[in-house]
Amino acid sequence: MPILSASDALKTILEAVHPQGTIAVSLERGLGYALAENVISEEDIPPFDNSAMDGYAFRHDDILHLPVVLRLVAEIGAGTYPEVTLKSGEAVSIMTGARIPQGCDAVVQREWTEPEGKDKVRILRSAPPGHNVRRRGDDIAKGNEVLQRGCVLRPQEIGVLASLGRTQVTIFRPPSVALLTTGDEIVAIDQPLAESKVRNSNAYALRALVEELGCDVRDLGIARDDREELSRKIEDGLSSDVLITSGGVSVGRYDLVKDTVEELGVSIMFWKVNIKPGMPLLFGMAGERPVFGLPGNPVSSMVTFVKFVRPALLKMLGHKNVEPRPTLRAKLEESIQKADGKRHFLRGILDSGGGALTVRLTGPQSSHILTSMVKANCLVIIPEDVTHADVGDTVEVELL
Ligand code: AMP
Ligand code: MG
Repeated sequence: MPILSASDALKTILEAVHPQGTIAVSLERGLGYALAENVISEEDIPPFDNSAMDGYAFRHDDILHLPVVLRLVAEIGAGTYPEVTLKSGEAVSIMTGARIPQGCDAVVQREWTEPEGKDKVRILRSAPPGHNVRRRGDDIAKGNEVLQRGCVLRPQEIGVLASLGRTQVTIFRPPSVALLTTGDEIVAIDQPLAESKVRNSNAYALRALVEELGCDVRDLGIARDDREELSRKIEDGLSSDVLITSGGVSVGRYDLVKDTVEELGVSIMFWKVNIKPGMPLLFGMAGERPVFGLPGNPVSSMVTFVKFVRPALLKMLGHKNVEPRPTLRAKLEESIQKADGKRHFLRGILDSGGGALTVRLTGPQSSHILTSMVKANCLVIIPEDVTHADVGDTVEVELL
């Protein structure tokens, strides 16, 4: 089976996976998900002309020659309905957000006025017609498309939907994700760490990466490097929408994941990608369900998740933009050598302190150094054909 380039591997994945239908959720549960509907406003927002300031509303024609004294005929607070219709020479005291009464076409703020006796106000500064008047529908006009299918709900979209009175929204149904960690040496983190064993950090890092996207994780636990046990657990995992395994996809004697998934009818789309870390990445399809075999080294499993599994899950979640994530260009603060022709994803520390963006590496880059991910705020991308990069060279970085 040929070794794929990172871009061909991603292309293969994104061609194979699709959203899984839609689901209605309460607005407060929608955060971070992609809308599966176009939202058309049934109302004007704001729904009525209102004041942008605490001040006085009047007819603009009355203040052509300043200063002028106007007679106060009402005080209008936010949330009240003004019964008055303003006549020439009159003004109302008005609060921010209060409905502008009939006949008024401008508001000046309190600071531009002086009281005159008990029931009059002196206007000191001029204001053009429409000044401080927030027009009905000037944020959202009735009938307009406010949000589009595929748009991701951030706090601001949630706020707009709330302003339209939407208590429910339709999102793409989040796929269920089964997670299986493998390896004779791997032990659960609440168990004593016997000689030569390794704690199951991947189950937690990968779970967190999946949950960050809003998908639920079904943890299938740890499978020994044993054909039968692997087969049983993988078969169970194939009932979820997505299966992610960790470990056992390399070329060691006990790397049994590829053969086992194949035996269970998963068609292997690729095995091995020309990248570092994470070369032995396995991808297959069980019918419509993607199966990702991630390498076991903690950094490899996280980086391959970020570069390949996350875009797949985002596509299934209906996101319009899944890849590439926006990258930045930064000046290298140390030189980098490589000769393997692979695409490297190095852990970097991006700094914008001095105005220009600079980046340095986190230190040792071996794929077992999980703290390199902790120190990093970005991945430094060194393309396949680059053999060295010098101090001061510009490199591409992707925020983590
Ligand atoms: P493998 O991909 O199974 O050959 O494992 C590669 C390396 O990653 C080995 O050093 C494993 O001990 C380590 N490793 C595998 N699975 C995990 C895991 N779930 N948590 C932490 N380290 C792991
Ligand atoms: Mg293993």
